[in-house]
Amino acid sequence: MALMTGEQYIESIRKMKMQVYMFGKKVEHPVDDPILRPSLNSVRMTYDLAQMPEYQDLMTAKSPYTGGIVNRFTHLHQSTEDLIKKVKMQRLLGQKTAACFQRCVGMDAFNSVFSTTYEVDKKYGTHYHENFKKFLVECQEKDLTVDGAMTDPKGDRSLSPSQQEDPDLYLRVVERRPDGIVVRGAKAHQTGMLNSHEVIVMPTIAMRPEDKDYAVSFAVPLDSPGLFMIIGRQSCDTRKCEGSEMDVGNSEFGGVEALTIFDDVFVPNERIFLNGETEFAGMMVERFAGYHRQSYGGCKVGVGDVLIGAAALAAEYNGAAKASHIKDKLIEMTHLNETLFSCGIACSAEGSKTEAGNYIIDLLLANVCKQNVTRFPYEIVRLGEDIAGGLMVTAPSEADLRDEKLGPYVDKYLKGVGVVSTENRLRILRLIENLSLGTAAVGYRTESMHGAGSPQAQRIMIARQSNLAHKKELAKAIAHIKD
Ligand code: SF4
Ligand code: FE
Repeated sequence: MALMTGEQYIESIRKMKMQVYMFGKKVEHPVDDPILRPSLNSVRMTYDLAQMPEYQDLMTAKSPYTGGIVNRFTHLHQSTEDLIKKVKMQRLLGQKTAACFQRCVGMDAFNSVFSTTYEVDKKYGTHYHENFKKFLVECQEKDLTVDGAMTDPKGDRSLSPSQQEDPDLYLRVVERRPDGIVVRGAKAHQTGMLNSHEVIVMPTIAMRPEDKDYAVSFAVPLDSPGLFMIIGRQSCDTRKCEGSEMDVGNSEFGGVEALTIFDDVFVPNERIFLNGETEFAGMMVERFAGYHRQSYGGCKVGVGDVLIGAAALAAEYNGAAKASHIKDKLIEMTHLNETLFSCGIACSAEGSKTEAGNYIIDLLLANVCKQNVTRFPYEIVRLGEDIAGGLMVTAPSEADLRDEKLGPYVDKYLKGVGVVSTENRLRILRLIENLSLGTAAVGYRTESMHGAGSPQAQRIMIARQSNLAHKKELAKAIAHIKD
């Protein structure tokens, strides 16, 4: 089975015995939980679209490892064209879900772990690359969703992993056995975790020799003994339990985050991709972060497309669409959104081949891409709220609109232009609310800031890649300065 249908994917997750906790209780059926289900639907879209002939060029690729057609989310980029298609696929999914569809993290982990393990093996004669290739082929053949877990809790940021008062604040190896290792720690902010079959764990920072036990990478199934998730709260999350599809704004899709605990989880030898080679931790982090910073030039742009469309509709429903300042604000939103896309495409087009053979983005441009993502969606949201008007946060509920006594008043006084129903006007405002303040704001706003690394992480990479010495030489040449 090279490609699963969306339904097969849902059933495959249902069969897994994952340990998921929310509001202090174990969730017995995460797949059917009203708060969790929309995030599963978002991942499902990565399967559904791959089945549709019109999207197959973007959604699928030929794998040199299986020889067959695989979902692009399990593919290793074979060219800059593949890198560009990846970004376009992510924009498409952002447009279809208006949420985080989660599966990119695994794709970005595949591509960074593949090239890094090749270079580790070359230096140390280890077998991580072979381990990884076997794992990859399994994921491609079974069309698995794989999460990539990087962010450790990190405790006191001024201390290295091994200097922390509590040694578990970075995930580490606590026991080495002949058949594998036992790991302990946690990974924070994991969006796709509970909708994934497997997780690839990676270190979160560059490490020194004393951090040996922390320089570890591996893959395990999400229902491994000792692994459990505590779901994070989102603004307006319990609206999903109230029975009003309209008040949620985007009732079908979403994303939820989990603090994922590895409470002495066993990893067999064949699933280990790094184990103590500290100098390669930084390489793995840099590459994964680079790929994921490229990703944001696709997914956030797709969600931005939905928000711009919603703002334009809100203006139309208000009778304000022809006002010149509204037109100008929509132009500005579009300009900002397309600038992000340009960055995603540019870092892909300027990509290059790694020693292992897959393609990697231009790291400077990928970091510039994500740095812009930490800013522009905020301005896009600001303009969206400006156009929407205050009603997006003061409107009565759907229950009021449907109420026998109150409904006629809500309908009468909240109507905009004559041809548009009050209900439709409220629906579009709820969508803007969802994207800017509600559950999707986690994925569109705050994740734009902190996902794939906070702004300062990109500035460090930009500084490292900027080649200032070369620029100084250029200036000297023009100014006829001879030292
Ligand atoms: Fe994919 Fe974007 Fe979600 Fe990252 S934030 S997993 S790139 S949709
Ligand atoms: Fe993300």
